[in-house]
Amino acid sequence: MPPPVFRFAPSPNGFLHLGHARSALLNFDAARRGGGRFLLRIEDIDATRCRPEFEAAVYEDLGWLGITWETPVRRQSDHLADYRAALDRLAALGLLYPSFESRAEIAALVNARETGGIWPRDPDGAPLYPGAAKSLPARERRLRSGAPFALRLDMDAACKLAGDLTWTERGSGPNGETGAVVARPEIWGDVVLARKETPTSYHLAVVIDDALQGVTDVVRGHDLFWSTAVHRLLQKILDLPQPAYRHHDLIRDDAGKKLSKSSSSTGLRELRAGGMTAEEVRRLTGLL
Ligand code: GLU
Repeated sequence: MPPPVFRFAPSPNGFLHLGHARSALLNFDAARRGGGRFLLRIEDIDATRCRPEFEAAVYEDLGWLGITWETPVRRQSDHLADYRAALDRLAALGLLYPSFESRAEIAALVNARETGGIWPRDPDGAPLYPGAAKSLPARERRLRSGAPFALRLDMDAACKLAGDLTWTERGSGPNGETGAVVARPEIWGDVVLARKETPTSYHLAVVIDDALQGVTDVVRGHDLFWSTAVHRLLQKILDLPQPAYRHHDLIRDDAGKKLSKSSSSTGLRELRAGGMTAEEVRRLTGLL
């Protein structure tokens, strides 16, 4: 049996906090225990929010925690051609279409539709795409005009092509879901898989990278539990192997909210500057 492959995949759009430490340590410890490999991946496709100083801080903070990783580290912005190739495959299957609305136009469309009741939201609370771009007659012309666009997955068509899907959950979902979990990607609507200025998206890049890096075990927070349905769908359509998933609960602040990268009280750099040790971080995150 080849060794299991784990990864920690932060986005360098802020400094890491205790929640990241917990997730990174859970992955690192599991890899060590199972005689496996531990990879670090930098998910920096959002050029407007990711910054080199945050990436440098990731290495420093993880090193402080005693975590070691294989090099070279995969940085997503270095591999845009891989994501473009996957988009080309999806396009060839007729599963992508461009939409042109701005965020404000989407909000206005949702408002207009809400006169008839609440418009459906995805698990992150964002309204499902309400536009009509899928059947827009002039879309090729608008594309050629150079207008900004988002490439969306035709979710109905993708689900029909993929058929029923489950994923293997070795942890549990927010409501205790575990084992073979039924994937319901349709709850996300026609997700954006790329934009004119960024030829990929979180969902697409994560699936391609996990496959290219041979990741066998995805250990990550509950906040990404429902996204797994979209990941499973893309894996099936693109003929990619499926890792096992283990979603873990999140560390919350005193008000019960998920930690954010901007909250300094739980930031690893602040805790380190305040004299905390890596062992204390392990204790604080429930790992000792
Ligand atoms: N880059 C994602 C984040 O920082 C995590 C991706 C994943 O683990 O699948 O939230």
